[in-house]
This record gives sequence, structure tokens and C-alpha cells, in this order.
Amino acid sequence: MTSNFPELPVVVIGAGPVGLAAAAHLAERGLPFLVLEAGDNPAAAVRAWGHVRLFSPWRYDIDPAAARLLEHSGWIRPGDDKLPTGAQLAADYLQPLADLPGLKPNIRYGARVAAVTRLGLDRVRSLGREATPYLVRLAGGEDILARAIIDASGTWATPNVLGASGIPAHGESAATAFVEPALPDVLGRDRDRFAGAHTLVVGAGHSAANTLLALAELAEQAPGTTVTWAIRATSAVRTYGGEAADALPARGALGSRLRNHVENGTVTLLTGFSVRSVIAGGTQVEVSDGEQSITVDRIVSATGFRPDHTIAGELRLDLDPIMGSTRALAPLIDPNEHSCGTVPPHGVDELIHPEPGYYAIGVKSYGRAPTFLLATGYEQARSVVAALAGDWEAARDVQLDLPETGVCNSNPVEDDDTVAAGGGCCGAPAPAAVEPAGRGLSTGIAGGLLTAPLSLITVGESGSSCC
Ligand SMILES: Cc1cc2nc3c(=O)[nH]c(=O)nc-3n(C[C@H](O)[C@H](O)[C@H](O)COP(=O)(O)OP(=O)(O)OC[C@H]3O[C@@H](n4cnc5c(N)ncnc54)[C@H](O)[C@@H]3O)c2cc1C
Repeated sequence: MTSNFPELPVVVIGAGPVGLAAAAHLAERGLPFLVLEAGDNPAAAVRAWGHVRLFSPWRYDIDPAAARLLEHSGWIRPGDDKLPTGAQLAADYLQPLADLPGLKPNIRYGARVAAVTRLGLDRVRSLGREATPYLVRLAGGEDILARAIIDASGTWATPNVLGASGIPAHGESAATAFVEPALPDVLGRDRDRFAGAHTLVVGAGHSAANTLLALAELAEQAPGTTVTWAIRATSAVRTYGGEAADALPARGALGSRLRNHVENGTVTLLTGFSVRSVIAGGTQVEVSDGEQSITVDRIVSATGFRPDHTIAGELRLDLDPIMGSTRALAPLIDPNEHSCGTVPPHGVDELIHPEPGYYAIGVKSYGRAPTFLLATGYEQARSVVAALAGDWEAARDVQLDLPETGVCNSNPVEDDDTVAAGGGCCGAPAPAAVEPAGRGLSTGIAGGLLTAPLSLITVGESGSSCC
């Protein structure tokens, strides 16, 4: 495929960490490339959650090819064992990477990809398909031809809905003014919307926990701030995690802090709550599961993310019906079987679609599985670029060093003394969705002590994402 159009670039969609890693590998291999990024700067999605601290230390957050290019430019590598925030990941690594002379001229910002197809061929046309370049259409109407497509556009822009059935709850679409996406900066730029207000957080993953802790802190500072937490499961024990039994005291303290807030009434926990309706009325919104209902000022939807495959709707994709990843990848990342640290090595062979030359990599490649890690995405990028360069030996020599202790269960040094808020997306071996249904309203919980670390048990409530 690549040799058919040597003059055309490989188009990389998205200048997030994995798209930029792909760019670094393409630059190293001397392949022409063009990165198209919807945002105004690199790492637009990462910057949106910039106030959240990663759970992976720097050693797992930097792509090896990117590091090689950066080190030639005199870049100072951050300390391997420190945990960056999203903002630090962007400022100290991704921005310098995107600014390298070998990458910068090949990155376009404000370039949202609206569709990818084959020039002159819709999905049904087979004749000459593989000998036809890709056509990438930007939202502004510009068409760009490409020899191959690396789609690293992530899932941040397509969060799951509040509705427990996977479709919007009744009234949800009309209530958007009351609904915040996951991980608002409660103690920072978004403070005014939450101070003195009653907020309902929906979701049982790490991002929900993160937001609840921030809201609890705000409640101490701003009178009238009220916090309610709704989960579908019958108990919040999965979100609390290992607590004192956690291999990491700081992380175990997260679950303990949240449990304490529930037990002392700072956070009111609604269990067995599956959102069915969200009815906006005046200055407040009523959320109901059909039996229980609660009226609040704001809702934070921390229900996870899903991939948007519509831009590739005219391509021949073979998607797993459950995960929305490739079929070959699905069993390797299934959150019923794997945590993020137990995902086996994989590369181009697991990412291939019936449409030769189109690869989704990065968090998008995982579909609805919440087990994605940057280190995995970097290896995907290396393998796919090697294949595009025709180096199949390197492409198939997939290596992934993801010891469970060391990425998910790292023992890192934080940049400051605060307990990491964490933003981990590690999936649980058993998603919350398999828990028996039940309902109740309580300000306390009689949960047991788990031995699994928090980052391994924070699968999203829907089983689709914990972030
Ligand atoms: C709060 C949080 C904490 C996390 N912590 C960790 C951690 O500690 N360790 C770890 O390994 N992983 C972590 N992850 C998981 C994962 O590593 C991140 O989600 C990571 O950002 C994924 O990188 P990506 O490049 O695949 O996608 P993204 O970072 O989402 O980048 C996608 C890019 O594509 C752009 N884009 C989207 N659509 C288009 C379009 N149509 N056209 C052009 N551009 C487009 C976006 O603007 C964005 O810049 C975390 C995730 C979250 C949300």
C-alpha cells in the first residue's frame, strides 16, 4: 500500500500522546506524514483533564522514539518515578515533542477530520480499492489525499450518556445545560459552577472518585456545597478499592478518603441507581431511576467513554460487537479478563481491518474497554509505522513491558505532597455491571476490605470505561 503513493503522506488523526508517538516513529523512518489535530495545540484532550494526576510515572508515559528525537534537541527528561499531571504531560513532553523541527511543519492544528474514505470509491466498491489513495475530508471542507491513515483521535469527545441503558435518559438531551462532562476542575477553573451548589456525580470509576473528593474539599470551603453520588451497583466497595491493604498507601488513602466522606455524610451515596430520566426545570434538574429521584443544581457525568467510528463510516471496518475494537484485539483487552497491566503485547496484526492501510491506535483502538495505557499505545504506534514502512519483522516483534507492579501499581514519587487524585483507567477483572441489582439510599456503607489495588478495580459502571 505505502509504495503505491510514495508522494502522499501517512495522515495521523489527532496530536494526542499516541498520535504524536506515531509521528515520531514516522519521522524516524523517513516516511512523509501529516498530523491533523482538531484542537489549537497538541494534547488537546490531555489538557482538558490537565488538573488530574496520572497514575503512571513518567517512565511509562514517554514514547521511546519521541524520547530519542527530544534528547537530540537537548530536552531534559523528567524524573522517571514522578507522577505528572495531565498539564505536565502536555507542557513537559508533548508540547516540546510537537515543536521539534522534524515534526512541527507536519502538524496542522484546528484541522478536524470529518470523514475518511477512498478517493472516488464508497464502501461498496471493491475494484481497484487497494490501489486507490485515501481521501481525508476536514470539517472546513478541504480534501487531503493520503497513502495510509493512523487514527489516533481518542474517545474524549464521545463520553457515554447518563442513561443506564446506553441511550440518553428521558430528557437528557434537553438537560445538557445542567450536565458536566467527566473530570471538571472543581477546585480550579470550574469552581464557580460548583461552589454553594448541589452536585450529583454519576459513575463508579476513578474519575467519579476524583470529582467526589474535589467536591468534598470544596464543601469544606464553600458553604452550601452539597454532594450526592449515584452508582448502579449495590455498594461502592469497588470504588473504595484496597484502602489500607493497598500496595500504595497514598492510593489506598484515596478510597479511604472517599469512604470517610460517605460515612460522615459529606457525600450522600445512592446505590442501585440506574438513571432513567433527567428532567430540567427552572434552575434545577430532577434525576430519577423510576423509583428514586433527586433534584440537584448540577450533574457530573462520569460514566466513561466510547469510540466514534463514524468518521470511518465509508471504510471497511471489522469491529468487535461488544468492545468496538478490532475483533482480534477484543479478547486481549476484555476488562472481564484483563487489568491494564495484564494486556498482552499486541501490534499491527491485532489492529488490522479489512481496509488495508487504516489503523485505529491509542485509546480509540480499545473501543469501550477501559484497560488502555499509554505504553500500550506507543507500542501500537511503533508496530503500525514499521508495517507501513514495510518492515514486517519489526512490526511483528511486539514488545510490551507492562508489569502489573510498575504501571498500574506503581510506587511513584509525586511532584508534591498531595495525595494523587489519580485518573487511572485500569479495568477490573469483573465489571460492576455483573453485580446483582439493588437499590438504596444511604450516607454510609458497610463494605469489606479488598486486597486488589484501587487502580485495578475502578472499571466504569457500565463496564465501558472507568475514566
Ligand atoms: C483522566 C485520565 C487519566 C489517565 N491516566 C493515565 C495514566 O496514568 N496512565 C496511562 O497510561 N493512561 C492514562 N490515561 C489513559 C490514556 O493514556 C489517555 O486517555 C491518553 O490521553 C490517550 O491518548 P490518545 O493519544 O490515544 O488519545 P487522546 O489523548 O484523547 O488524543 C486524541 C487527540 O485527537 C484529537 N482529535 C479528536 N478527534 C479528532 C478529529 N476528528 N480530527 C482531528 N483531531 C481529532 C483530539 O483533540 C486529541 O488531541 C488516562 C486517561 C484519562 C482520561
